Amino acid sequence: MSAYHELTCTISPGGLLFTCVDDDCGRRLVIDRDRGELVVIDRGDPEALHRGFAGGVRMPAPRVAPA
Ligand SMILES: [Zn+2]
Repeated sequence: MSAYHELTCTISPGGLLFTCVDDDCGRRLVIDRDRGELVVIDRGDPEALHRGFAGGVRMPAPRVAPA
């Protein structure tokens, strides 16, 4: 039996960081910003099917300092 896990994407200094939302899994991978290389940091649950949304990257709202 396999389950789908969702990956959330955050922007880190090393590139795009994908983290599994399942606390028991803990899969993490990063996509290198310069080389476009995918590096798995933590394998997590090998039975689970992971899907992420690189197209759904949300940029943090810019902070405007008061004049
Ligand atoms: Zn997972």
